[in-house]
Amino acid sequence: ATPTALMVGTGRGAQLGILIKGPEVLESTRRVDTVVLDKTGTVTTGRMTLQGVHPAETADATELLRLAGALEQASEHPVARAVAEGAAARVQGPLPATEDFVNMPGLGVRGVVEGHEVLAGRARLLEEAGVELPEELLRTAAGAGGLTAVFAARDGKALGVLTVADAVKDTSAEAVRELRALGLAPVLLTGDTRAVAEKVAAEVGVTEVYAEVVPEEKVSLVERLQAQGRTVAMVGDGVNDAAALATADLGLAMGTGTDVAIEAGDLTLVRGDLRVAADAIRLARRTLATIK
Ligand code: ADP
Ligand code: MG
Repeated sequence: ATPTALMVGTGRGAQLGILIKGPEVLESTRRVDTVVLDKTGTVTTGRMTLQGVHPAETADATELLRLAGALEQASEHPVARAVAEGAAARVQGPLPATEDFVNMPGLGVRGVVEGHEVLAGRARLLEEAGVELPEELLRTAAGAGGLTAVFAARDGKALGVLTVADAVKDTSAEAVRELRALGLAPVLLTGDTRAVAEKVAAEVGVTEVYAEVVPEEKVSLVERLQAQGRTVAMVGDGVNDAAALATADLGLAMGTGTDVAIEAGDLTLVRGDLRVAADAIRLARRTLATIK
């Protein structure tokens, strides 16, 4: 009877919009007590829009937009989409092509545009590459409230900073309430800044927040929680989440996310609705209860 009940659970999952890698996944689903939520594209829509364009004193807005936009055309990150689309809409003519493109998950992108070495991403990425970020740009980024800042540089010199806005999915706050009601402790995890992370956390009712982490640190955070004796589910959508999804006791991938995340997860939430994470846990508990 055991395998049959598991298969029924799997079939019911499909109806709810949950794809389960194998029946054995239900057992870890049942036991989780902590749920780590990636911010961008998981708790938020990930459909970002370009807001502010702030060139450095030595640059101009069009150069900033052309070069950052050219580079970000090659990335599928939500921040990159906002920059590329916003630049294409604001700059006349097509954006230039990018060569030698390198994606650095959780940090940004780099490549050669019109013979110049261009970088776009977090302050940390540019600083690690030896780019000096002028005080006024850092102040602009810090003053941008809940907006994500994308710094850009050409040939090692700051070009300016762009700000992009995201919105919390309208189902996320309810999902957090449901997860809490199931006895799970919600944790927000993001590579974005503390200011942006705290704003999203407050909107959805999460108090345990880890911000400004890089993808490897996402893995070590999951391991740290596991070392505390917690059984950890991780929900994510990005390339940068894949390793943490694989490390967690249960990896839940947003079906709206990247293929890499979906491959790394044990479960896929087909519609990208976080409430279905709670459905999955309820289903696992019920299915296994009928077996016992
Ligand atoms: P999250 O953990 O919220 O999903 P990521 O780990 O993917 O976010 O990214 C962390 C941060 O790195 C983003 O908030 C953004 O500032 C920066 N970033 C990542 N990819 C890019 C990119 N292609 N262009 C610019 N910035 C990026
Ligand atoms: Mg994400």
